[in-house]
Amino acid sequence: MADYIHGATGEWEVVIGLEIHAQVTSEAKLFSGASTTFGAEPNSQVSFVCCAMPGMLPVINAECIRQAVRTGLAIGCKINLRSVFDRKNYFYADLPQGYQISQFKDPIVGEGTVVIDLPDGQTKIIGVERLHLEQDAGKSMHDQHPSQTYVDLNRSGVALMEIVSMPDMRSAAEAGAYFRKIRTLVRYVGTCDGNMEQGSMRADVNVSVRRPGAELGTRTETKNINSIRYMMQVIDYEARRQVDILEQGGQIHQETRQFDPATGTTSGLRSKEEAHDYRYFPDPDLLPLEFTQAFVDDLAKTLPELPDDKKNRLIADLGLSEYNAGVLVAEKENADYFEELLELLVKKTGKTPTELATQAANWVIMDLFGALKKFSKSISDSPVSTVDGAELLALQIGGTISGRIAKDVFEIMLESGKNPEQIVEEKGLKQMSDSGELEAIIDAVLADHPDKVEQYRAGKDKLFGFFVGQVMKKTRGQANPQMVNQLLRPRLDG
Ligand code: ADP
Ligand code: MG
Repeated sequence: MADYIHGATGEWEVVIGLEIHAQVTSEAKLFSGASTTFGAEPNSQVSFVCCAMPGMLPVINAECIRQAVRTGLAIGCKINLRSVFDRKNYFYADLPQGYQISQFKDPIVGEGTVVIDLPDGQTKIIGVERLHLEQDAGKSMHDQHPSQTYVDLNRSGVALMEIVSMPDMRSAAEAGAYFRKIRTLVRYVGTCDGNMEQGSMRADVNVSVRRPGAELGTRTETKNINSIRYMMQVIDYEARRQVDILEQGGQIHQETRQFDPATGTTSGLRSKEEAHDYRYFPDPDLLPLEFTQAFVDDLAKTLPELPDDKKNRLIADLGLSEYNAGVLVAEKENADYFEELLELLVKKTGKTPTELATQAANWVIMDLFGALKKFSKSISDSPVSTVDGAELLALQIGGTISGRIAKDVFEIMLESGKNPEQIVEEKGLKQMSDSGELEAIIDAVLADHPDKVEQYRAGKDKLFGFFVGQVMKKTRGQANPQMVNQLLRPRLDG
């Protein structure tokens, strides 16, 4: 699904590689016991290690190691039993140590691949080059004082996973799908909360262009993008800008750029020539990190069913469509809700999961998600529990209420929080399935419209729908529509 750019001199292909920074879910920082809770008072979560007091030594947080390995396993990458922490040296006000502890030549996680789902229903494999652990820096605050910059070190030393892709993406849509997939995976295994507004996940976006099939072009790297929409804007803007330069006979210089969300444009920060020489070297305070294959195998056992496996199972075992299965597994909470609802529905109706799955999935995706969107709620604070959702569907499947009435009951559930049985009872919404009662109503409708009956009998077959409508109206939508069809035809024809 490569998006070729049509320039004046022919077609161009866009090449994208992403470096995703994901904050490790862990109570303490990578090398100190200081807390990582978001939103605390500035500098209230800073140990002597985080502010680089002389003589302080880093002590590795085993939980961060476990989380990095679990993430590597979820992405399907090779886990390196030996890795090394290096010092990446640079000077900046929010980096008290004067270096960041990172991993350079020997990262904890090596190569792997992820499968992405594209909007046109196709899939594509994207290579992952590595995942390494590193410390986050502090935050400079330029808006606290008219002439001074303040520094908040709460983030200083928080563990980040940097997940580096191969330059395998060919459009903004592919990059968006890749980012979403990584986000889904880390959220499934609980190694990063994926919260982009709080900065828990952000990306450096590498973009180049080339003639289709030619060697890779020179790339630019746009730093610190914290929304998928912005990332896609960066790619489209950069690709177009580079094509314009190349078509005018110019050259692309490898450089670091920044994005301005207000204008949707990027601008140069520093060129390759000005790039930092980080003088990486192994951190003498930390031994190489070594663990056994048994440690990795034990962690593999802690992983939940991953989204691709879940999706395949929903399709193969339950007969769900690709689309429905894809939507449900995108967030683990959605899939959990669906599976819990289905289990309850099986118990209530006595039907098999396969018989019920598509109807249940359609209800979750269309009705429930529609309502959640309207109320800006997430599934974890859904106003309708799986128990009430299953009851609503069971009432419909059992014929107590019609599909039409089920929609009304759902609206009332959302407003009142009452359970569906109670609503049906209180409002007298039970479907009318008593043939005697329905026949009486049908007779009354026919008596009210003798002219239409005559026209129908004279061959105006289309009027059948009119009579069905009248019966539904008289019963306030409660008549069982199948029974109305069955009973009406002989009366009219007779
Ligand atoms: P650096 O460490 O300087 O950032 P890397 O080789 O680690 O360089 O690459 C960083 C990212 O840039 C990777 O995600 C990689 O896929 C991507 N990348 C490398 N070459 C290109 C290119 N020509 N066009 C687009 N992306 C690229
Ligand atoms: Mg880089």
